[in-house]
Amino acid sequence: MIGLLAVLSLGTGMHPVREPARMAAPASVVIATSRGESVVPVSEESGVPALPAPYLSRALPLSAEVKSDWALVTFAGQPFRFLLEAPVFLHGNRLVPLAGGAFVARDTLFLPLQWLTDYVPSVFAEGYRYDALAGRFEELRITPVITRPRPVARSPRLLPSGVLRFPHTVVVDAGHGGEDPGNPGLYFPGFMREKDVNLGIAKLLRIELQKRGIEVVMTRTRDTLIALGDRGRYCRADCDLFLSIHVNSLPRRSGYQNVSGIETYFLAAARTADEQRVANMENEALRYDADRGSGSDDALQFILKDLQTNEYLRESAVLASLIQDHAGRRHPGGDRGVSQAGFVVLTTARRPAVLVETGFSTNPTDGRYLASPAGQLHIAQSLADGVVAYLRQYENKVASEAEP
Ligand SMILES: [Zn+2]
Repeated sequence: MIGLLAVLSLGTGMHPVREPARMAAPASVVIATSRGESVVPVSEESGVPALPAPYLSRALPLSAEVKSDWALVTFAGQPFRFLLEAPVFLHGNRLVPLAGGAFVARDTLFLPLQWLTDYVPSVFAEGYRYDALAGRFEELRITPVITRPRPVARSPRLLPSGVLRFPHTVVVDAGHGGEDPGNPGLYFPGFMREKDVNLGIAKLLRIELQKRGIEVVMTRTRDTLIALGDRGRYCRADCDLFLSIHVNSLPRRSGYQNVSGIETYFLAAARTADEQRVANMENEALRYDADRGSGSDDALQFILKDLQTNEYLRESAVLASLIQDHAGRRHPGGDRGVSQAGFVVLTTARRPAVLVETGFSTNPTDGRYLASPAGQLHIAQSLADGVVAYLRQYENKVASEAEP
């Protein structure tokens, strides 16, 4: 099995997978106040830019203490509580999401750069501003006075369409790979298999998401096998959602070549025989996992355990329906709607997670569409539109929950 770092460095495109955000983070931030300027180094040891709290305390009206799992921060009289190593903080009773959390290293508390540069200026609009180009956080008045805290966005309706407010990271999982070819693809040309189509769509989806300002992590960027149980692990703290790409196929039976279309699954107990069939087909890949027994009991245990703990069921269902709304509309094989089943690949993602069956390789129209560059691009574009629709409604929901 291949290691995480090895996979992340395998980017075959022009851009290494995770570089955009890393390059965007400054090496340091200048804090400019009426008392002078100081330079605060930016740490990226947790994967997300963060600032050492003691430096901030010296330059700004900030005090901080760590109590068990929490960092209790007061900034200009306002209380902020950070659950350590979780990508959220509380401002009073308001829960605000972050790309990455506060953490303690070498007895020093680090606070997310995003909190200081995005959130603080939105709350203390007349007190502070951040100039991202210059990497300068400026105090506009000596003592900021606020009468009541302001939410991230004053009204969700003010969000311009097509623009995402926060940075987002999406994990794109091209199903199968390496010695696991996926389904053979009755109507795929030559030696093309499901794993090749999945990878083709995944790479185009990466480009489409990047064009929309979204960061992408790929579970694989070449023809290699990643264990099912490891794929979701790419989606943890700094990941907004997980999307796995597959191609459906039907066993030979009367009329099987007539079935076509795209459908999106989220993780929940299967309700129909067809949902169960698709889950069984995709979970088959477990037998390629060297360190896992191949028994289906094992897979079932895995899924049941996860269903008890998966707090993202509802969000996953919303994500599935928005993706299907966009993808179903443009697919020549038709819109098969949202389904649910127990997919091992979706169990380890600690975020909303869906699996898209992009069409049927056993249908001539779908098969040709999926194998063609134009078809793969159409699918990638519609999946990206669905992802943006989901992230936008998520941002609006956070903004409206933040309404006073
Ligand atoms: Zn598959």
